[in-house]
Amino acid sequence: MSRQPLFDRLAIIGIGLIGSSVARAARERGLVRQIAIADASEQHRQDAARLQLGDEVHADAAEAARDADLIMFCVPLGANAAVAAHVAPALKPGAIVSDVGSCKQAVIRDIAPHLPAGVHLVPGHPVAGTEHSGPKAGFASLFENRWCILTPPPGADARAVEAVKAFWAACGSKVEVMEPRHHDLVLAITSHVPHLIAYNIVGTADDLETVTEGEVIKYSAGGFRDFTRIAASDPTMWRDVFLNNKEAVLEMLGRFTEDLIALQRAIRWGEGDTLFNLFTRTRAIRRAIIDAGQETAAPDFGRSPAAGKSEG
Ligand code: NAP
Repeated sequence: MSRQPLFDRLAIIGIGLIGSSVARAARERGLVRQIAIADASEQHRQDAARLQLGDEVHADAAEAARDADLIMFCVPLGANAAVAAHVAPALKPGAIVSDVGSCKQAVIRDIAPHLPAGVHLVPGHPVAGTEHSGPKAGFASLFENRWCILTPPPGADARAVEAVKAFWAACGSKVEVMEPRHHDLVLAITSHVPHLIAYNIVGTADDLETVTEGEVIKYSAGGFRDFTRIAASDPTMWRDVFLNNKEAVLEMLGRFTEDLIALQRAIRWGEGDTLFNLFTRTRAIRRAIIDAGQETAAPDFGRSPAAGKSEG
């Protein structure tokens, strides 16, 4: 695609699922003139070079960040502070630092204190992903028609926010600006708690003594397998999400637990109307998600190759 590049040099720190998808989208759509990649993993650096995801591949993040106009942190949340401290001396005045992390208050807490004056921080979260990791798992269309939420801290440079907005819009995303704390609450209920429930239910099934593992696998089409896809998500990423969005997750988990106990009671006392009314309400939410284009109505959702995207 021929277009005027939005940035001269893009540095991607962490060339995993999200970082490599950003690289592919930026290259395919001509959004930048030059892509510099850094990753801590020797294997991932080799894969990135072989797949020609960028023009340069570095072990040292500061080398990639040097002279970059947009530096995108695509590492697990727990690595942000150390990466920010390390690249800070290499950042040029006017550079924009952004990221893709799944919680935003922690990103601002960990990155902002390290940035020199004149470098702008515009955190972002593409609400798109899969249960796979690493540079081979990425694809250029991952962000198409998906939301990307930007959470600029108070006083953020308006031009830098507009530039990051334009970048994600050019990747095919719908972009929204949100207050960081609100982002963390919204994502706690729409993404983080659902992942925790999936991890928990798959773990519980694995621990059962009265039902064999063979039976769980054999009869998984009853609903269980949809949880297993989410529960196959990257352990490092999700450990860091729960450690870094602790308060919002605990708040939503408190509400969830209360509602679960109310359902337990309805089952115990045979309150069919309570169950029926809830299940009717939830069915309408599913329909609204399909109507909004965030999911397909196909009955095998999540299992056809075209339906492999989820949220993260
Ligand atoms: P990923 O596939 O595991 O990629 C992360 C990459 O960063 C890996 O290559 C990792 O190497 C590398 N890395 C780790 N520490 C580093 C460091 N200190 N310096 C340089 N590279 C380092 O993970 P991902 O799924 O792309 O997730 C990246 C970020 O995107 C996370 O913050 C996550 O919250 C966010 N996110 C993920 C999703 C999703 O669905 N996956 C969706 C939206 C947002 P090693 O593998 O050797 O550690």
